[in-house]
Amino acid sequence: MSRVLAAVAWPYANGPRHIGHVSGFGVPSDVFSRYMRMAGHDVLMVSGTDEHGTPIQVQADAEGVTPRELVDRYNRVIVEDLRGLGLTYDLFTRTTTGNHYQVVQELFQGLHDNGYIIARTTLGARSPSTGRTLPDRYIEGTCPICGYDSARGDQCDNCGNQLDPDQLINPRSKINGETPEFVETEHFFLDLPAFAEQLNAWLDTRDGWRPNVLKFSRNLIADLQPRAITRDLEWGVPIPLDGWRDRGDKRIYVWFDAVIGYLSASIEWARRSGDPEAWRRWWQDPDAEAFYFMGKDNIVFHSVIWPSILLGYSGPKPGSLGALNLPTEVVSSEYLTMEGKKFSSSRRVVIYVRDFLERYDADALRYFIAVAGPESTDTDFTWSEFRRRNNDELVAGWGNLVNRSISMAAKNFGEIPAAGVLTSEDTALLEAVRAGFAQVGDLLGRHRQKAAISEAMRIVGEVNKYFSDQSPWKLKDDKARMGTVLHVALQAVRDCNTLLTPFLPHAAQQIHELLGGTGVHAPMPRIVDVEDLDNGITYPILTGDYTTGATWSPQDIVAGTALAAPTPVFKKLDESIVEEELARLQS
Ligand SMILES: [Zn+2]
Repeated sequence: MSRVLAAVAWPYANGPRHIGHVSGFGVPSDVFSRYMRMAGHDVLMVSGTDEHGTPIQVQADAEGVTPRELVDRYNRVIVEDLRGLGLTYDLFTRTTTGNHYQVVQELFQGLHDNGYIIARTTLGARSPSTGRTLPDRYIEGTCPICGYDSARGDQCDNCGNQLDPDQLINPRSKINGETPEFVETEHFFLDLPAFAEQLNAWLDTRDGWRPNVLKFSRNLIADLQPRAITRDLEWGVPIPLDGWRDRGDKRIYVWFDAVIGYLSASIEWARRSGDPEAWRRWWQDPDAEAFYFMGKDNIVFHSVIWPSILLGYSGPKPGSLGALNLPTEVVSSEYLTMEGKKFSSSRRVVIYVRDFLERYDADALRYFIAVAGPESTDTDFTWSEFRRRNNDELVAGWGNLVNRSISMAAKNFGEIPAAGVLTSEDTALLEAVRAGFAQVGDLLGRHRQKAAISEAMRIVGEVNKYFSDQSPWKLKDDKARMGTVLHVALQAVRDCNTLLTPFLPHAAQQIHELLGGTGVHAPMPRIVDVEDLDNGITYPILTGDYTTGATWSPQDIVAGTALAAPTPVFKKLDESIVEEELARLQS
């Protein structure tokens, strides 16, 4: 057994999340965490909503609400969506907690004490007519990198690059259209080049990583520049230095505060668990492993910048929390597109998680993401392919096997029949299914989920073939042999169900019960309204008890267990849903 930190990307709280978001980080991290727990590891899975930064402030301004009101709304929406997908976070929290502010300020202070934070004079924007500082969000201009004409003073939403206001071509004030003047202003920078040597030495030890991630990271390190970690903005974590703490116009940059969330959420989880030091087992034990899950656009933060922050806080003199572990692996996914187009809320090329779950089961989406998601290449979500995989594979493959084996046993015996003497076909099938635990488990442990579910479904296919070959419905005159075949088939169904549990937890719980099982087979997260540990504000978290449930091993079924006629576990989708959904996209 080992300790495993599953550190999952933080969704930005400026709107509901679409299925492209959750296919990149949410579902894969849950499949991994469920498998690791079943295999006996001590998993801590944490994340939360990312709630600071200019885009939140801009949107709040546009809606006439405070940033706090905006993030309160979307934090709850996102928490409910992730619960609906069955994602087993030990703690899903948010970046506006008192605990997060303290941990961010502690890391800032520790980096500052070790000399890795440098003050620099940069050019900030000022309104010539009023003489006031113009925060980044009030400046717009043409992106110097991609030419997009509505880039903001801190970021281009078209190409995703971070910018400084004075880099914009034809900068203008969003308040009155005037051209801002640029005056000297002081900001803090993280001295990233100071870590280049340590980062390269660390990457040399990461032989299990995907080659493209390593190559990409090494290229970044060759060209590292100090990076701004403060901004002209009122919404965010205050700078914890004398002379800066009380300034209302300067805040810590949102990217710097958000990556620290992995640590602050672990600390919040420990504080809520009754053992405030418990987080150290995942962050300071040299044997603990840490896996970070994200989309490919975030690799730089996890393979270079977050490790730099961890290195700079841990030495030469560790901060008051002590030295912290570096990531074991950065597990990035590629992009999911929608009917051949990039997801876009503004262009309505989107399906939100909530809308999806109103019309379809969570496991149907989890299945599609696992078998056809963007694990290693960009992939396209189409409604016709979603329907085809659901109907041909989930319903006709796995669901049909579950249904016909249980209903035939229920009808003819009313219970799990006893097995007589096993034929070589019987034992060959049982061995093939048992071998799946090593094969599928090995693939899941190496983040090869597409290959893992394909292997599990290949085994399901073997069981279906056995069932057809043995044709128990033709054995009405040989009840003993019929009982043996059904016993073998039900044993195979039970073990296949365990192999599929990390991918299809809702269905797995139902199938467990159809086979006469009681208690928790696949644990589920729950939403709890809690008080902020430091300021008493109430907010919802996702958490759960995941210590119960199935283990990653074959379990013998018990002859004589009562069986009832099953209700179908998966729903067949009508052809009309494809047109209906495409019409929704175009409306
Ligand atoms: Zn751009």
